[in-house]
Amino acid sequence: MTGMSEPDSYLCPVSCHRCGAALRLGNGTAYLIRIEAMADPTPPTLDPSECDGDFNRAFREVLSQLEGMSAQEAMDQVYRRFSFYLCPSCYRRWIENPTG
Ligand SMILES: [Zn+2]
Repeated sequence: MTGMSEPDSYLCPVSCHRCGAALRLGNGTAYLIRIEAMADPTPPTLDPSECDGDFNRAFREVLSQLEGMSAQEAMDQVYRRFSFYLCPSCYRRWIENPTG
């Protein structure tokens, strides 16, 4: 493969994210789980006739929330991506109930 953005996760020894079992890559017995999560990208619908004062207040509230955050934290609010490995038995349990 070319253009991989996470080469280290393919080279380092890995362990199962759930049970900690050591996994050997390259023999088809490990599962790489990739999760990408993002905030709803749909812009909010604003009715200008309804919210002249409210819009400014809502905007200030968002700004004040962001003030206490680092740039990374603010970014994490809207987009996160991570990956982990599972052993076959943990994978079978996880895939049936990924959010459990
Ligand atoms: Zn496991």
